Parts: sequence; C-alpha cells; structure tokens
Amino acid sequence: MSILFYCNWPNADEWLTLLRQAMPEETIESWPGVTNIDAVEIALVWATPTGFLSKIPNLSLILSLGAGVDHIMADKDIPRDVPIARVVDPIMADRMAEYIAGQVLRHHLQLDRYRDQAGVKTWQRHFPRDAGKTTTTVLGLGSLGQRAAEYLSCLGFRSCGWSRNPKTIPGVDCYAGEGGLGEVLAKSQHLICLLPLTDDTFGILNKSLFDQLPEGAQIINCARGHHLQDDALFAALDSGQLSEAVLDVFVTEPLPQDHRFWTHPNIVVTPHISSLSEPTSSAQILAQQVADHRAGKIPENQISLDTGY
Ligand code: NAP
Repeated sequence: MSILFYCNWPNADEWLTLLRQAMPEETIESWPGVTNIDAVEIALVWATPTGFLSKIPNLSLILSLGAGVDHIMADKDIPRDVPIARVVDPIMADRMAEYIAGQVLRHHLQLDRYRDQAGVKTWQRHFPRDAGKTTTTVLGLGSLGQRAAEYLSCLGFRSCGWSRNPKTIPGVDCYAGEGGLGEVLAKSQHLICLLPLTDDTFGILNKSLFDQLPEGAQIINCARGHHLQDDALFAALDSGQLSEAVLDVFVTEPLPQDHRFWTHPNIVVTPHISSLSEPTSSAQILAQQVADHRAGKIPENQISLDTGY
C-alpha cells in the first residue's frame, strides 16, 4: 500500500526527498506519477483539485502538508469518512510570532516615520506610547495564535487573544465567543488575524469589526485573504479609522501586479512568508502521523468536519 504526494509548491521535490528519507519503509509516489491508484492509502496533499481525493478508492488518511486546511475543506466532495489531519510544527509557530512581533514593533516605534524623516534629513522626535498601555489582540489562539500572543506578552504589551472556546494562557487576557469579541476589539490598538478560514470566519475583517477598534489601529492579516473585505479596508484606511494594514495573505497569490494593495501608502504587502512551512521538521512530523496511523492510532491534529478546522 502506498502514499500519494500532491504538491504544487516550487520546492515540492525537496519535500518529496525529505519525506522519503523520513519514512524509508513507505512507498511515496508523486502525482501524476502514481502507478496504482488502488494501492494508495494515505494522501499527503496541498491544494488538490475539487473531486480529486474522492476518486482514491482505498484512502484511509488525508494529511495536509501545511497548517491550514481550507484548501481541503473547499472541496465539497472530500470523502467524509476519511480522517484528515494537518502539520503542526513549532518552528512555524516561532516564525509567525517573530513576524508579528516585528510588524507590531515597527508600527509601535514609528520606525517608518523615522526612515522617511531621515530621507529628508529631518531631526524630529515623536514620543512613543508605552507598550504596557498598548493592547495587542490575536484572533485565533491555536498553534500559531497562542505563540504569537505569548511573544507579545513577553515584549511588554497588554496581550489579548480571542477564540471560540474559553482559554487560560499565562500572560494573555483571553476572550471567547461573539460576546468576547466586541469587548476586546474596543481596546485593541493592534489586531492580528490568525483564524482558520471557515464559514464562520469568512470576511470577518470587515467594516463592523474595524468600526469597533480604537481610531488609528493597525491590523495584521496572516491567516487567509478571504478573511478580509477589501473595500472595507480601503475605507477604514482612508478615513483614518485604521492607520495601517499589514497583509501577508491574499485571495489571489501572487498578488496581481495591478492590485491596489501594492500602491496604498498605508498597506504593507509581504508575499505569504510570515510562517513558511519548514520541510525538514515537517517531514518528521508527517512521518510520525503516518506511523501512528499504521499502528492504528488516531493521528494528532485531526480536523473536525463540523467546525472546518
Ligand atoms: P488552529 O490551531 O486550528 O487554531 C485556530 C484558532 O482559531 C483556535 O483558537 C480556534 O478556537 C479559533 N477559531 C476558529 N474559529 C473561530 C471562530 N469562529 N471564532 C473564534 N475563534 C475561532 O490554527 P493555527 O495552526 O493556529 O493556524 C491558523 C491559520 O493560520 C491557518 O488556518 C492558516 O489559514 C493560517 N496560516 C498562515 C500562514 C502564513 O504563512 N501566513 C502559515 C500557516 C498558517 P478554539 O481554540 O476555541 O477552537
């Protein structure tokens, strides 16, 4: 019985090599070079076409090569009786936390303003706000969001987070559910989106949410492009309700050359790099999930079809 590997990333060959090294006892074949589809039991995937997975007759496990699973959930034909799990890699959580801390600190310390001033040889001081009087809020306190909220707490910010279910995280004020969202938004000078993309979170970064933030807030979207309503963002930036948006994820990637995000003076675009998957460590994690499955155990980080994450 074999494993199918489906991946369109530029470094897919490196992934395949590392996966084969991590589980030498397994036969791993890369799509479209699969010799016998009936022998495929496990699919290691990123962004398969709609209906692809349902055509694998003896599939018993689907593993997402990345942390997000919206690329699988978007396929309404996925076999509903096959467990789905995903990679949760602590290295990715550290990378994401560093990226978010960097973007929050750059804004908090007004570093862009000093760069611009230096360009015109202007010596002018601006008093910073105290980190201890500045609230950062991470929407989504999962494997990535929790680490980011902990980092921001260590940096001295009033670190808050929001999730579906109530949580206790040392150093982080945790809010949950619809009621908790309004309460935390009202005080968040920096708002970071690390939610999975589901029916409940699609378009959550919208006018109603922006209006609940303090004037001049910064938003950072590292989750998915579909979380954000573009027109609401432009309106909030142009009115001053938001001072800056940092966007790492987009509905269409690469971001089209003519997209307005590129040229808006208060939008920072990065090319989906806030937490790049790390093939060396992720291959080991995937190999363990495969070994657990072969041993009849439930793989770690299984997805619920009910919640969509
Ligand atoms: P995760 O472990 O599944 O955590 C998701 C968090 O979101 C949980 O805390 C969950 O609440 C919360 N949540 C889900 N639906 C919610 C709702 N309706 N209301 C309130 N909270 C809700 O996910 P993760 O591993 O941290 O990853 C988060 C997302 O980051 C991924 O789905 C992916 O889209 C994105 N990502 C981006 C990059 C990048 O490079 N930009 C890289 C990797 C991942 P509970 O804890 O109560 O369940």
